[in-house]
Amino acid sequence: MTSEPERSHQDLLARSRQVMPGGVSSPVRAFGAVPGDPPLVAKGAGATVTDVEGRRYIDMVGSWGPLILGHAHPRVVAAVEAAVRDGMTFGATCPGEIALAERILERYPLADRVRFTSSGTEACMSAVRLARGATGRSRIVKFDGCYHGHADPLLVKGGSGLATFGTPSSAGVPEAFTALTEVLPLDDVAAAEQLFAEKGDEIALVAIEPLPANAGLLVQRLEFLQHLRELTTQHGALLLFDEVISGFRVGPGGMTQRTGITPDLVTVGKIVGGGMPVGAYLGPAALMDQLTPDGPVYQAGTLSGNPVAMAAGIATLDVLSEDGTYERLDELGARLQAGLERGLAQAGVPGTVARVGSILWLCLQDGETPRAFHKIRPESAERYGRLHRAMLDRGVWMAPSAYEVAFVSTAHDEASIDAVIAAFADAVPTVMDPKAIDPRAGMPNSSETSGDRVGDGSPA
Ligand SMILES: *Cc1c(COP(=O)(O)O)cnc(C)c1O
Repeated sequence: MTSEPERSHQDLLARSRQVMPGGVSSPVRAFGAVPGDPPLVAKGAGATVTDVEGRRYIDMVGSWGPLILGHAHPRVVAAVEAAVRDGMTFGATCPGEIALAERILERYPLADRVRFTSSGTEACMSAVRLARGATGRSRIVKFDGCYHGHADPLLVKGGSGLATFGTPSSAGVPEAFTALTEVLPLDDVAAAEQLFAEKGDEIALVAIEPLPANAGLLVQRLEFLQHLRELTTQHGALLLFDEVISGFRVGPGGMTQRTGITPDLVTVGKIVGGGMPVGAYLGPAALMDQLTPDGPVYQAGTLSGNPVAMAAGIATLDVLSEDGTYERLDELGARLQAGLERGLAQAGVPGTVARVGSILWLCLQDGETPRAFHKIRPESAERYGRLHRAMLDRGVWMAPSAYEVAFVSTAHDEASIDAVIAAFADAVPTVMDPKAIDPRAGMPNSSETSGDRVGDGSPA
Protein backbone atom coordinates (compact mmCIF):
# COMPACT_ATOMS: atom_id res chain seq x y z
CA MET A 1 0.00 0.00 0.00
CA THR A 2 1.19 3.49 -0.77
CA SER A 3 0.96 5.92 2.10
CA GLU A 4 -1.58 8.72 2.09
CA PRO A 5 0.82 11.61 1.41
CA GLU A 6 2.29 9.79 -1.59
CA ARG A 7 -1.16 9.35 -3.04
CA SER A 8 -2.11 12.98 -2.84
CA HIS A 9 -2.76 14.47 -6.23
CA GLN A 10 -0.78 17.68 -5.77
CA ASP A 11 2.22 15.80 -4.42
CA LEU A 12 2.26 13.35 -7.32
CA LEU A 13 1.75 16.15 -9.82
CA ALA A 14 4.71 18.07 -8.41
CA ARG A 15 6.87 14.95 -8.46
CA SER A 16 5.82 14.11 -12.03
CA ARG A 17 6.95 17.57 -13.15
CA GLN A 18 10.24 17.13 -11.36
CA VAL A 19 11.16 13.92 -13.14
CA MET A 20 9.45 14.16 -16.56
CA PRO A 21 9.21 17.12 -18.97
CA GLY A 22 5.83 18.67 -18.25
CA GLY A 23 5.11 15.72 -15.98
CA VAL A 24 4.08 13.61 -18.97
CA SER A 25 5.26 11.00 -21.47
CA SER A 26 3.19 12.54 -24.30
CA PRO A 27 2.48 16.28 -24.50
CA VAL A 28 -1.32 16.69 -24.69
CA ARG A 29 -1.70 14.83 -21.40
CA ALA A 30 -0.32 17.89 -19.58
CA PHE A 31 -3.60 19.86 -20.07
CA GLY A 32 -1.69 22.73 -21.70
CA ALA A 33 -4.68 23.63 -23.86
CA VAL A 34 -7.42 23.43 -21.21
CA PRO A 35 -7.80 25.07 -17.79
CA GLY A 36 -6.69 23.36 -14.61
CA ASP A 37 -4.35 20.53 -13.71
CA PRO A 38 -4.62 17.02 -15.06
CA PRO A 39 -5.81 14.33 -12.68
CA LEU A 40 -3.46 11.35 -12.39
CA VAL A 41 -5.11 8.08 -13.21
CA ALA A 42 -4.75 5.10 -10.91
CA LYS A 43 -7.16 2.64 -12.47
CA GLY A 44 -9.45 1.93 -15.39
CA ALA A 45 -12.44 -0.41 -15.42
CA GLY A 46 -14.91 -0.72 -18.27
CA ALA A 47 -16.07 2.76 -19.26
CA THR A 48 -14.53 4.54 -16.26
CA VAL A 49 -11.18 5.74 -14.96
CA THR A 50 -10.41 6.51 -11.32
CA ASP A 51 -7.88 9.11 -10.28
CA VAL A 52 -5.33 8.81 -7.49
CA GLU A 53 -7.70 10.45 -5.04
CA GLY A 54 -10.46 8.00 -5.78
CA ARG A 55 -12.64 10.17 -8.01
CA ARG A 56 -14.25 8.21 -10.82
CA TYR A 57 -14.96 9.56 -14.29
CA ILE A 58 -16.81 8.28 -17.30
CA ASP A 59 -13.99 7.93 -19.82
CA MET A 60 -14.54 9.32 -23.31
CA VAL A 61 -10.84 9.26 -24.22
CA GLY A 62 -10.23 5.50 -24.23
CA SER A 63 -6.46 6.06 -24.09
CA TRP A 64 -6.84 8.10 -27.32
CA GLY A 65 -8.36 5.30 -29.35
CA PRO A 66 -7.08 1.81 -28.48
CA LEU A 67 -9.68 0.90 -25.86
CA ILE A 68 -12.65 0.05 -28.05
CA LEU A 69 -13.61 -2.63 -25.50
CA GLY A 70 -13.13 -0.31 -22.53
CA HIS A 71 -10.59 -0.74 -19.74
CA ALA A 72 -9.43 -4.17 -18.57
CA HIS A 73 -11.84 -6.20 -20.69
CA PRO A 74 -11.88 -9.67 -19.08
CA ARG A 75 -11.02 -11.49 -22.32
CA VAL A 76 -8.09 -9.20 -23.04
CA VAL A 77 -6.83 -9.43 -19.47
CA ALA A 78 -7.07 -13.24 -19.53
CA ALA A 79 -5.21 -13.44 -22.84
CA VAL A 80 -2.45 -11.14 -21.59
CA GLU A 81 -2.09 -13.03 -18.29
CA ALA A 82 -1.77 -16.33 -20.11
CA ALA A 83 0.79 -14.91 -22.54
CA VAL A 84 2.89 -13.31 -19.81
CA ARG A 85 3.29 -16.61 -18.01
CA ASP A 86 4.93 -18.08 -21.12
CA GLY A 87 7.50 -15.32 -21.48
CA MET A 88 7.22 -11.71 -22.51
CA THR A 89 9.48 -11.47 -25.53
CA PHE A 90 11.59 -13.89 -27.51
CA GLY A 91 13.12 -11.91 -30.36
CA ALA A 92 11.92 -14.72 -32.58
CA THR A 93 8.72 -15.33 -34.49
CA CYS A 94 5.91 -16.56 -32.24
CA PRO A 95 2.54 -18.08 -33.13
CA GLY A 96 0.71 -14.99 -31.84
CA GLU A 97 2.23 -12.85 -34.58
CA ILE A 98 1.00 -15.22 -37.25
CA ALA A 99 -2.47 -15.34 -35.70
CA LEU A 100 -2.77 -11.55 -35.44
CA ALA A 101 -1.35 -11.01 -38.95
CA GLU A 102 -3.91 -13.47 -40.33
CA ARG A 103 -6.73 -11.62 -38.59
CA ILE A 104 -5.55 -8.27 -39.95
CA LEU A 105 -5.20 -9.60 -43.51
CA GLU A 106 -8.69 -11.13 -43.38
CA ARG A 107 -10.03 -7.65 -42.70
CA TYR A 108 -7.79 -5.94 -45.28
CA PRO A 109 -7.98 -8.15 -48.39
CA LEU A 110 -5.84 -5.70 -50.41
CA ALA A 111 -2.82 -6.79 -48.35
CA ASP A 112 -0.80 -10.03 -48.42
CA ARG A 113 1.70 -9.27 -45.68
CA VAL A 114 1.94 -7.40 -42.38
CA ARG A 115 5.03 -6.04 -40.63
CA PHE A 116 4.54 -5.35 -36.91
CA THR A 117 6.09 -2.37 -35.11
CA SER A 118 5.70 -1.09 -31.56
CA SER A 119 3.80 2.12 -32.39
CA GLY A 120 1.77 3.87 -35.04
CA THR A 121 4.63 6.34 -35.50
CA GLU A 122 7.00 3.56 -36.49
CA ALA A 123 4.43 2.04 -38.84
CA CYS A 124 3.94 5.35 -40.71
CA MET A 125 7.64 6.19 -40.74
CA SER A 126 8.42 2.75 -42.12
CA ALA A 127 5.65 2.94 -44.74
CA VAL A 128 7.24 6.16 -46.02
CA ARG A 129 10.64 4.46 -46.25
CA LEU A 130 9.12 1.48 -48.04
CA ALA A 131 7.29 3.74 -50.51
CA ARG A 132 10.47 5.64 -51.28
CA GLY A 133 12.46 2.43 -51.62
CA ALA A 134 9.86 0.78 -53.84
CA THR A 135 9.26 3.73 -56.17
CA GLY A 136 12.77 5.14 -56.25
CA ARG A 137 11.19 8.57 -55.68
CA SER A 138 11.73 10.95 -52.78
CA ARG A 139 8.82 13.35 -52.40
CA ILE A 140 5.89 12.57 -50.11
CA VAL A 141 2.57 14.34 -49.65
CA LYS A 142 0.54 14.73 -46.49
CA PHE A 143 -2.46 16.84 -45.53
CA ASP A 144 -2.76 19.78 -43.19
CA GLY A 145 -4.25 18.54 -39.93
CA CYS A 146 -3.48 14.85 -40.51
CA TYR A 147 -1.25 13.22 -37.92
CA HIS A 148 0.96 10.30 -38.82
CA GLY A 149 3.05 10.10 -35.69
CA HIS A 150 6.17 12.08 -34.85
CA ALA A 151 8.80 10.85 -37.30
CA ASP A 152 10.70 13.75 -38.89
CA PRO A 153 9.43 13.51 -42.49
CA LEU A 154 5.80 13.47 -41.34
CA LEU A 155 6.02 16.07 -38.58
CA VAL A 156 5.04 18.88 -40.86
CA LYS A 157 1.86 20.87 -41.07
CA GLY A 158 0.56 23.60 -43.30
CA GLY A 159 -0.13 27.11 -42.12
CA SER A 160 -3.75 28.03 -41.75
CA GLY A 161 -5.44 28.77 -45.02
CA LEU A 162 -3.68 27.61 -48.15
CA ALA A 163 -1.09 24.87 -48.06
CA THR A 164 2.33 25.76 -46.76
CA PHE A 165 5.07 23.56 -48.04
CA GLY A 166 7.86 21.98 -46.06
CA THR A 167 7.71 23.99 -42.84
CA PRO A 168 8.85 22.00 -39.82
CA SER A 169 6.32 22.13 -37.02
CA SER A 170 8.77 21.07 -34.35
CA ALA A 171 12.11 22.44 -33.28
CA GLY A 172 14.82 19.92 -34.01
CA VAL A 173 13.54 18.96 -37.44
CA PRO A 174 15.93 20.53 -39.95
CA GLU A 175 14.28 22.09 -42.97
CA ALA A 176 16.37 19.84 -45.15
CA PHE A 177 14.60 16.84 -43.61
CA THR A 178 11.16 18.11 -44.55
CA ALA A 179 12.04 19.72 -47.87
CA LEU A 180 10.67 16.60 -49.55
CA THR A 181 7.36 16.70 -47.68
CA GLU A 182 4.53 18.53 -49.43
CA VAL A 183 1.53 19.57 -47.38
CA LEU A 184 -1.88 19.97 -48.98
CA PRO A 185 -5.21 21.16 -47.55
CA LEU A 186 -7.88 18.52 -47.06
CA ASP A 187 -11.04 18.64 -49.17
CA ASP A 188 -9.29 20.51 -51.99
CA VAL A 189 -9.11 18.66 -55.30
CA ALA A 190 -7.65 21.62 -57.18
CA ALA A 191 -4.64 21.92 -54.87
CA ALA A 192 -3.90 18.21 -55.21
CA GLU A 193 -4.21 18.38 -59.00
CA GLN A 194 -1.90 21.34 -59.19
CA LEU A 195 0.77 19.65 -57.09
CA PHE A 196 0.59 16.50 -59.20
CA ALA A 197 0.74 18.54 -62.41
CA GLU A 198 3.97 20.14 -61.19
CA LYS A 199 5.71 17.30 -59.37
CA GLY A 200 3.67 14.15 -59.98
CA ASP A 201 6.60 12.08 -61.26
CA GLU A 202 8.66 12.83 -58.13
CA ILE A 203 6.01 11.75 -55.64
CA ALA A 204 6.57 8.40 -53.92
CA LEU A 205 3.61 8.48 -51.56
CA VAL A 206 0.47 10.34 -50.65
CA ALA A 207 -0.37 9.72 -46.99
CA ILE A 208 -3.80 10.52 -45.61
CA GLU A 209 -5.97 9.62 -42.69
CA PRO A 210 -9.02 8.57 -44.71
CA LEU A 211 -11.01 9.72 -41.69
CA PRO A 212 -8.90 12.58 -40.32
CA ALA A 213 -9.38 12.37 -36.56
CA ASN A 214 -6.40 14.25 -35.15
CA ALA A 215 -7.61 17.78 -35.86
CA GLY A 216 -11.19 17.35 -34.93
CA LEU A 217 -13.07 14.84 -37.06
CA LEU A 218 -12.71 16.22 -40.58
CA VAL A 219 -14.98 13.85 -42.48
CA GLN A 220 -13.87 13.81 -46.11
CA ARG A 221 -16.10 13.52 -49.13
CA LEU A 222 -15.80 10.09 -50.77
CA GLU A 223 -15.08 11.79 -54.10
CA PHE A 224 -12.03 13.53 -52.63
CA LEU A 225 -10.52 10.25 -51.50
CA GLN A 226 -11.39 8.63 -54.84
CA HIS A 227 -9.70 11.50 -56.61
CA LEU A 228 -6.51 10.94 -54.64
CA ARG A 229 -6.61 7.29 -55.68
CA GLU A 230 -6.92 8.32 -59.34
CA LEU A 231 -4.19 10.96 -59.18
CA THR A 232 -1.70 8.66 -57.48
CA THR A 233 -2.41 5.84 -59.92
CA GLN A 234 -2.02 8.13 -62.94
CA HIS A 235 1.31 9.42 -61.70
CA GLY A 236 2.78 6.16 -60.38
CA ALA A 237 2.69 7.29 -56.74
CA LEU A 238 1.56 5.10 -53.86
CA LEU A 239 -1.44 5.87 -51.66
CA LEU A 240 -1.23 5.23 -47.90
CA PHE A 241 -4.33 5.07 -45.78
CA ASP A 242 -3.26 5.78 -42.21
CA GLU A 243 -5.87 3.84 -40.28
CA VAL A 244 -4.14 3.98 -36.91
CA ILE A 245 -7.35 5.45 -35.47
CA SER A 246 -10.00 4.32 -37.95
CA GLY A 247 -8.76 0.74 -38.42
CA PHE A 248 -11.04 -1.77 -36.60
CA ARG A 249 -12.88 1.28 -35.20
CA VAL A 250 -15.32 2.33 -37.91
CA GLY A 251 -15.86 -1.26 -39.04
CA PRO A 252 -13.82 -4.47 -39.26
CA GLY A 253 -11.91 -3.25 -42.33
CA GLY A 254 -11.82 0.39 -41.30
CA MET A 255 -12.21 3.18 -43.83
CA THR A 256 -10.65 1.01 -46.53
CA GLN A 257 -13.69 -1.23 -46.36
CA ARG A 258 -16.16 1.61 -45.82
CA THR A 259 -14.96 3.64 -48.82
CA GLY A 260 -14.34 0.69 -51.13
CA ILE A 261 -11.09 2.39 -52.14
CA THR A 262 -7.96 0.24 -52.46
CA PRO A 263 -4.88 2.04 -51.15
CA ASP A 264 -1.39 0.59 -51.76
CA LEU A 265 -0.38 0.60 -48.11
CA VAL A 266 -2.28 0.75 -44.83
CA THR A 267 -0.98 1.56 -41.37
CA VAL A 268 -2.80 0.45 -38.24
CA GLY A 269 -2.12 0.82 -34.52
CA LYS A 270 -4.06 1.61 -31.36
CA ILE A 271 -6.92 -0.97 -31.41
CA VAL A 272 -4.73 -3.63 -33.06
CA GLY A 273 -2.67 -3.78 -29.85
CA GLY A 274 -5.69 -3.96 -27.54
CA GLY A 275 -4.01 -1.48 -25.15
CA MET A 276 -0.46 -2.76 -25.67
CA PRO A 277 2.09 -0.89 -27.82
CA VAL A 278 1.56 -2.20 -31.37
CA GLY A 279 1.57 -0.72 -34.83
CA ALA A 280 1.68 -2.43 -38.21
CA TYR A 281 1.89 -1.69 -41.89
CA LEU A 282 0.46 -3.88 -44.58
CA GLY A 283 0.25 -4.15 -48.33
CA PRO A 284 0.53 -6.43 -51.35
CA ALA A 285 3.42 -8.92 -51.48
CA ALA A 286 5.15 -7.04 -54.31
CA LEU A 287 5.56 -4.04 -52.01
CA MET A 288 6.03 -5.71 -48.64
CA ASP A 289 8.66 -8.11 -50.00
CA GLN A 290 10.87 -5.07 -50.62
CA LEU A 291 11.47 -5.16 -46.87
CA THR A 292 14.60 -6.73 -45.48
CA PRO A 293 15.27 -9.72 -45.26
CA ASP A 294 13.63 -10.25 -48.67
CA GLY A 295 14.42 -6.83 -50.08
CA PRO A 296 16.58 -3.74 -49.62
CA VAL A 297 14.34 -1.56 -47.36
CA TYR A 298 15.50 -1.93 -43.77
CA GLN A 299 13.27 -1.74 -40.70
CA ALA A 300 13.43 -3.63 -37.41
CA GLY A 301 12.26 -3.71 -33.78
CA THR A 302 13.48 -5.54 -30.66
CA LEU A 303 10.02 -5.85 -29.10
CA SER A 304 8.01 -5.89 -32.33
CA GLY A 305 5.52 -8.75 -32.48
CA ASN A 306 6.09 -9.72 -28.85
CA PRO A 307 3.66 -12.41 -27.66
CA VAL A 308 2.00 -10.35 -24.92
CA ALA A 309 1.05 -7.50 -27.23
CA MET A 310 -0.05 -9.97 -29.89
CA ALA A 311 -2.31 -11.74 -27.38
CA ALA A 312 -4.00 -8.46 -26.43
CA GLY A 313 -4.54 -7.62 -30.10
CA ILE A 314 -5.93 -11.05 -30.97
CA ALA A 315 -8.37 -11.02 -28.04
CA THR A 316 -9.54 -7.52 -28.97
CA LEU A 317 -10.15 -8.33 -32.64
CA ASP A 318 -11.91 -11.56 -31.66
CA VAL A 319 -14.32 -9.81 -29.31
CA LEU A 320 -14.93 -7.15 -31.98
CA SER A 321 -15.81 -9.80 -34.54
CA GLU A 322 -18.82 -10.97 -32.52
CA ASP A 323 -22.18 -10.28 -34.15
CA GLY A 324 -23.63 -6.83 -33.65
CA THR A 325 -20.56 -5.17 -32.10
CA TYR A 326 -20.24 -2.37 -34.62
CA GLU A 327 -24.02 -1.88 -34.75
CA ARG A 328 -24.00 -1.49 -30.97
CA LEU A 329 -21.13 1.03 -31.09
CA ASP A 330 -22.97 2.97 -33.78
CA GLU A 331 -26.17 2.97 -31.73
CA LEU A 332 -24.40 4.34 -28.65
CA GLY A 333 -22.53 6.87 -30.79
CA ALA A 334 -25.81 8.06 -32.32
CA ARG A 335 -27.38 8.36 -28.87
CA LEU A 336 -24.48 10.49 -27.66
CA GLN A 337 -24.52 12.64 -30.79
CA ALA A 338 -28.25 13.30 -30.47
CA GLY A 339 -27.89 14.13 -26.78
CA LEU A 340 -25.02 16.56 -27.37
CA GLU A 341 -26.90 18.23 -30.21
CA ARG A 342 -29.93 18.59 -27.95
CA GLY A 343 -27.74 20.14 -25.24
CA LEU A 344 -26.26 22.66 -27.69
CA ALA A 345 -29.70 23.62 -29.02
CA GLN A 346 -31.24 23.99 -25.57
CA ALA A 347 -28.39 26.17 -24.33
CA GLY A 348 -28.27 28.18 -27.55
CA VAL A 349 -24.55 27.43 -27.89
CA PRO A 350 -23.18 27.38 -31.45
CA GLY A 351 -21.77 24.04 -32.45
CA THR A 352 -22.09 20.81 -34.34
CA VAL A 353 -21.29 17.19 -33.57
CA ALA A 354 -19.42 15.24 -36.25
CA ARG A 355 -19.63 11.48 -35.93
CA VAL A 356 -18.60 8.34 -37.74
CA GLY A 357 -19.66 5.27 -35.77
CA SER A 358 -18.10 5.47 -32.32
CA ILE A 359 -15.89 8.53 -33.02
CA LEU A 360 -17.38 11.92 -32.17
CA TRP A 361 -16.17 15.48 -32.31
CA LEU A 362 -17.76 18.55 -30.84
CA CYS A 363 -17.01 21.70 -32.82
CA LEU A 364 -18.16 24.76 -30.88
CA GLN A 365 -18.59 27.25 -33.71
CA ASP A 366 -21.32 28.47 -36.05
CA GLY A 367 -21.94 26.96 -39.44
CA GLU A 368 -21.22 23.61 -41.01
CA THR A 369 -18.85 21.10 -39.45
CA PRO A 370 -15.42 21.78 -41.01
CA ARG A 371 -13.80 19.36 -43.47
CA ALA A 372 -10.40 21.09 -43.43
CA PHE A 373 -8.10 22.14 -40.62
CA HIS A 374 -7.99 25.84 -41.51
CA LYS A 375 -11.78 26.03 -41.14
CA ILE A 376 -11.59 25.39 -37.38
CA ARG A 377 -11.78 28.76 -35.63
CA PRO A 378 -9.87 29.71 -32.45
CA GLU A 379 -13.01 30.57 -30.47
CA SER A 380 -14.12 26.98 -30.85
CA ALA A 381 -11.00 25.82 -29.00
CA GLU A 382 -11.42 28.43 -26.27
CA ARG A 383 -14.98 27.33 -25.63
CA TYR A 384 -13.93 23.72 -25.60
CA GLY A 385 -11.36 24.46 -22.91
CA ARG A 386 -14.04 25.78 -20.59
CA LEU A 387 -16.32 22.88 -21.41
CA HIS A 388 -13.54 20.41 -20.69
CA ARG A 389 -13.06 21.58 -17.12
CA ALA A 390 -16.82 21.82 -16.51
CA MET A 391 -17.25 18.22 -17.71
CA LEU A 392 -14.36 16.97 -15.59
CA ASP A 393 -15.98 18.65 -12.59
CA ARG A 394 -19.12 16.67 -13.43
CA GLY A 395 -17.33 13.35 -13.65
CA VAL A 396 -16.77 13.08 -17.41
CA TRP A 397 -13.27 12.69 -18.83
CA MET A 398 -12.97 14.17 -22.31
CA ALA A 399 -9.81 14.70 -24.35
CA PRO A 400 -7.95 17.79 -23.09
CA SER A 401 -7.84 19.40 -26.52
CA ALA A 402 -10.46 20.88 -28.82
CA TYR A 403 -8.76 19.06 -31.70
CA GLU A 404 -9.15 15.58 -30.25
CA VAL A 405 -12.16 13.35 -30.64
CA ALA A 406 -14.27 11.35 -28.20
CA PHE A 407 -14.47 7.57 -28.39
CA VAL A 408 -17.37 5.35 -27.39
CA SER A 409 -16.45 1.79 -26.35
CA THR A 410 -18.43 -1.42 -25.98
CA ALA A 411 -18.09 -0.89 -22.21
CA HIS A 412 -20.31 2.18 -22.44
CA ASP A 413 -24.04 1.65 -22.16
CA GLU A 414 -27.20 3.73 -22.28
CA ALA A 415 -26.78 4.75 -18.65
CA SER A 416 -23.21 6.03 -19.04
CA ILE A 417 -24.00 7.78 -22.32
CA ASP A 418 -27.05 9.43 -20.75
CA ALA A 419 -24.91 10.51 -17.80
CA VAL A 420 -22.51 12.19 -20.22
CA ILE A 421 -25.44 13.88 -21.95
CA ALA A 422 -26.82 15.13 -18.62
CA ALA A 423 -23.41 16.45 -17.57
CA PHE A 424 -23.11 18.19 -20.91
CA ALA A 425 -26.54 19.82 -20.62
CA ASP A 426 -25.49 21.13 -17.22
CA ALA A 427 -21.99 22.22 -18.30
CA VAL A 428 -22.54 23.65 -21.74
CA PRO A 429 -24.06 27.03 -20.76
CA THR A 430 -20.72 27.93 -19.13
CA VAL A 431 -18.75 27.70 -22.38
CA MET A 432 -19.89 31.08 -23.67
CA ASP A 433 -18.83 32.87 -20.48
CA PRO A 434 -15.10 33.64 -20.41
CA LYS A 435 -15.25 34.14 -16.64
CA ALA A 436 -17.04 30.86 -15.97
CA ILE A 437 -13.87 28.90 -15.31
CA ASP A 438 -10.91 30.10 -13.36
CA PRO A 439 -7.96 28.72 -15.33
CA ARG A 440 -6.10 28.18 -12.06
CA ALA A 441 -8.92 26.09 -10.64
CA GLY A 442 -7.63 22.61 -10.10
CA MET A 443 -9.08 19.42 -8.76
CA PRO A 444 -9.53 20.52 -5.14
CA ASN A 445 -12.29 22.89 -6.29
CA SER A 446 -13.96 20.27 -8.32
CA SER A 447 -14.48 17.89 -5.45
CA GLU A 448 -16.71 20.45 -3.78
CA THR A 449 -19.02 20.70 -6.75
CA SER A 450 -19.04 17.14 -7.97
CA GLY A 451 -20.60 15.36 -5.02
CA ASP A 452 -24.16 15.15 -6.23
CA ARG A 453 -23.60 15.25 -9.96
CA VAL A 454 -23.82 12.71 -12.69
CA GLY A 455 -20.91 10.29 -12.83
CA ASP A 456 -20.48 11.70 -9.41
CA GLY A 457 -16.74 11.40 -9.03
CA SER A 458 -17.27 9.51 -5.82
CA PRO A 459 -14.49 7.21 -4.65
CA ALA A 460 -14.75 3.99 -6.62
C1 LIG B 1 -2.03 7.87 -32.97
C2 LIG B 1 -1.76 8.00 -34.42
C3 LIG B 1 -0.49 7.76 -34.97
C4 LIG B 1 0.72 7.50 -34.10
O1 LIG B 1 0.60 6.35 -33.35
P1 LIG B 1 1.49 6.19 -31.99
O2 LIG B 1 1.20 4.79 -31.57
O3 LIG B 1 1.00 7.23 -31.06
O4 LIG B 1 2.90 6.40 -32.39
C5 LIG B 1 -0.34 7.78 -36.34
N1 LIG B 1 -1.39 8.02 -37.14
C6 LIG B 1 -2.61 8.28 -36.66
C7 LIG B 1 -3.73 8.52 -37.60
C8 LIG B 1 -2.84 8.29 -35.29
O5 LIG B 1 -4.04 8.60 -34.82
